[in-house]
Amino acid sequence: MIPYTPEPFTDFSNPKEAQGFEEALAKVRSELGLQVPLVIGGQRIATEQTSASINPSRYGETVGVVAKADRTHAEQAIQAAHYAYKVWSRVSPEARATVLFKTAAILRRRKHEFSAWLTVEAGKVRAEADADTAEAIDFMEYYGRQMIALAKKSDDLLVPMPGEHNRLEYIPLGVGIVIPPWNFPLAIMVGMTVASIVAGNTVVLKPASTTPVIAYKFYEMLEDAGLPPGVINFVPGSGAEIGDFLVTHKLTRFIAFTGSRDVGLRIHELSAKQSEGQIWLKRYIGEMGGKDSIVVDRDADLEAAAQAIVASAFGFSGQKCSACSRAIVHQDVYDEVLRRTVELTRPLKVGDAADHGNYTGPVVDRSAYEKILEYVEIGKGEGRLLTGGGTPEADRGYFIEPTIFADVEPNARLMQEEIFGPVLAFSKATDFDHALEIANNTEYGLTGSVFTRNRAHIERARQEFHVGNLYFNRKCTGAIVGVHPFGGFNLSGTDSKAGGPDYLLQFAQLKLSSERL
Ligand code: GLU
Repeated sequence: MIPYTPEPFTDFSNPKEAQGFEEALAKVRSELGLQVPLVIGGQRIATEQTSASINPSRYGETVGVVAKADRTHAEQAIQAAHYAYKVWSRVSPEARATVLFKTAAILRRRKHEFSAWLTVEAGKVRAEADADTAEAIDFMEYYGRQMIALAKKSDDLLVPMPGEHNRLEYIPLGVGIVIPPWNFPLAIMVGMTVASIVAGNTVVLKPASTTPVIAYKFYEMLEDAGLPPGVINFVPGSGAEIGDFLVTHKLTRFIAFTGSRDVGLRIHELSAKQSEGQIWLKRYIGEMGGKDSIVVDRDADLEAAAQAIVASAFGFSGQKCSACSRAIVHQDVYDEVLRRTVELTRPLKVGDAADHGNYTGPVVDRSAYEKILEYVEIGKGEGRLLTGGGTPEADRGYFIEPTIFADVEPNARLMQEEIFGPVLAFSKATDFDHALEIANNTEYGLTGSVFTRNRAHIERARQEFHVGNLYFNRKCTGAIVGVHPFGGFNLSGTDSKAGGPDYLLQFAQLKLSSERL
C-alpha cells in the first residue's frame, strides 16, 4: 500500500483551481435549503420538528432544513447501532479500512464542493475550508492504514512461550456516541467518526447544531462508498433533548467529544456514572478547548513572530481550539512586536466568506457573536484597545473585526477565559522565565508557540511549557494529521492526540487468547 502522505492544500493562485471552487460554490448555492433527514439503521426519517442551518455570512439564507431527533429517535439510533455492531465488529479490519479509502477517494474528487459547503455553512474562507477538507481526507487515509497495521501487529507484541500459541487482538468496544464540534465540521467530525468505525465500533453521530448539513453530506458519501446501514446513525438534535440521553444510555460504550470545556466536563461526569443495566466502564475521549499563547523572546525574529501571531489569532476569526489568544512578549521587544502585529492586522478584511477578497468570514452564530462582543467590552476595562472591536455589515452576517488589546495583566479574564473569537491580548514579560510562567498560568494546555533564537530557551520551553502541541518559530494552528498529532493537557481534554499513532487504541480493547498446543 502507498504510505500515507498528507493531502496537499489547493493552490488558489492557479486560475483552474479558483474557477473550480467558484463552480462548486454555484452548485452548492443551487442546493441551498435542502432537507436533511435523520438516518437510523439506513432509513431516512423526516421529523415534524426541524431546525434551520443558517449561513453566518448572510443570516437571511437557510443552508438546510434539518430534522430534529427526539428521545424515541435517539433510542432507535442506539438500538440500530447495537444491532449493526454484531456484524460490523466481525468485518475484517482491511475491509473496514477500504470503506475509508474509498470515501477519501470520493472526497478528493469532490473536494471543492465540500469546501464550498464549509464556506456557506461554517463561514470558512476558501483556504480555511480547503484545509478542513484536506484534513478530513487525511484522517481517513491515516486511520485506515493505522487500523490495518494494528491488526497485523498485535500478534508480534507477545513473548513466545514453547508449547503455547498466544494471540493478542485489538477488538472493538461497542456503540459509541460521536459529538463533533462546528469549527472543523468536516475534518474533526470525520476523524472521530471514522476512527470509531474503522476500529469496528458502530456509531450514533450527533452533528453540531450549527453545521449538520456538511455532516449529512459526508454520511451520504460513506453510503456511496458501501458503508452498511446502522454502522453510523445520523441524529441531529438538541443537546438538551438527546445529549444526556445518549451519553447515559446503558448500551453506550464510549463517547468521543470535541467542544467546549463545560460540555466536556459534563459528559465526563455523566459517562462515569453507571446506568441501570450497564455492564462496563464507559470510555470518554475528549477535546475541550484552549487558551493558547505565543511567547516572543528578546532575540526572536520579530517579523516572523508578528506574522505568526496574526495568522494564529485571526485565521477563521480565532475559532480554533489551537488559536493564539495570548501574545506574551519580552519587555525589550514588546513595543516593536505589538506595533507590527497591529500594522499587519489593520488591513485585514472581514466579510462574506464566499468572497475571496476577505481574509476571514463571520463568527458562527448569534450566541458566539454576542459572547465575543461581551469580551470586547471586558477587554476595554482590562487593556488598551489598539485595533478592531467593530462589527461591519451587522445587518447581514456575524462579522467581528480582528481585535487587539495591549497591556493586559496575566490574570485578567481576557488572558484566562476561552473567547473563541478574533480577540487577542498582549501581555508584557520581564524576562523569559516570566514569559513561561505567564504561558503556563491557565487551566488549559493545548497549543503554544515560542519564538526565539536561543537554543537553551528552546530546550527549557520544551520541558516546562505544558501544552500538548508545542511549536517553535511558527504559528500554533494548523496541525497536520500524522505530522503533528493534536490534543492537549489539563482541561484541554484527554490528550487523545487526533491524527497520532495511538489514537485508535482509544477505540479498541485488547483481548488475549492462549492455546495449549
Ligand atoms: N487541529 C486544529 C489546528 O491545529 C485545531 C482543531 C480545533 O480547533 O479543534 O489548528
